[in-house]
Amino acid sequence: MLINENKYHELRNQLDAQKVVLVAVSKTKPVEALQALYDLGHRDFGENYVQELVDKQPKLPADIRWHFIGHLQSNKVKYIAPFVHLIHGVDSLKLLKEINKQAQKANKIIEVLLQVHIAQEETKFGFDNSELEELFTVQKDAIEEMKHVRIMGFMGMASFTENEAQVREEFRSLRTLFDRYKEYPVSTINLSILSMGMSGDYTIAVEEGSNMVRIGSLIFGARDYSA
Ligand SMILES: *Cc1c(COP(=O)(O)O)cnc(C)c1O
Repeated sequence: MLINENKYHELRNQLDAQKVVLVAVSKTKPVEALQALYDLGHRDFGENYVQELVDKQPKLPADIRWHFIGHLQSNKVKYIAPFVHLIHGVDSLKLLKEINKQAQKANKIIEVLLQVHIAQEETKFGFDNSELEELFTVQKDAIEEMKHVRIMGFMGMASFTENEAQVREEFRSLRTLFDRYKEYPVSTINLSILSMGMSGDYTIAVEEGSNMVRIGSLIFGARDYSA
C-alpha cells in the first residue's frame, strides 16, 4: 500500500475544518506514492533533499506546490528556485540573500519561512530569539532591499520527546514570536504562515496556533532509510 488513504481523508477533513494547510512530507517515498496522493486531490508536498526533489519534480504534475522543508545550502538554491512554492527552513541572512538572487534570475518572487529554533535540543537548525530580533532590527534595511523574497512566516520543530507540556511550551513560544512580528512594517515581510507540527505532535501544534502542518509517516507510512 502506497498511502494510508483513510488516514489521509481523516486528516484532511479535520485540518480543512480548522483552515490548516496540510503539507504531505514525501521524502524517501517513490513518485508512485506521491502520484497516488495527487490523484486524491492533494497538491502540497514537502521534500527535504534538493537532489531528491529535483529528480521527482519533472516526473509529477506541474501544478504541485513543492515545499522545501529541509536544511538548504546556499549553493543548492539555484536548483529549486525555478519551481519551488515555499522554502520553510531559512536560517541565515546569507541564505536569504542567495534566494533573493536566484529568484531574481528566475524572474519571480520566492516565498519563505524563517526557521526558528524552539526546541531545547541542540541539534535543530534555526534562528534563536536574539538572532531573529537582530535580523528584524539591525538587518531591517537589508531585508527591505530583497525584493524577490517574501518572508511569509515562521517554521519550528519541537523537541522529540514524550513530554507534551514541553512540546506545547515550545510551540507556544513560536506563536508568541509570530504575534510579536505580525504587524512588522517592512514590505518584504508579510507574516501569515506558522508552520509547526508533524505526525507525532500536530494536534498540539494546531491547538497552539499552527496553520500549516508537515505530515509524512501518518500518510505514507514509516520511512525506510536502510535501502
Ligand atoms: C520529515 C519531516 C517532517 C515529517 O515527519 P513525520 O514525523 O513523518 O510526519 C516534518 N517536518 C520536517 C522538517 C521533516 O524533516
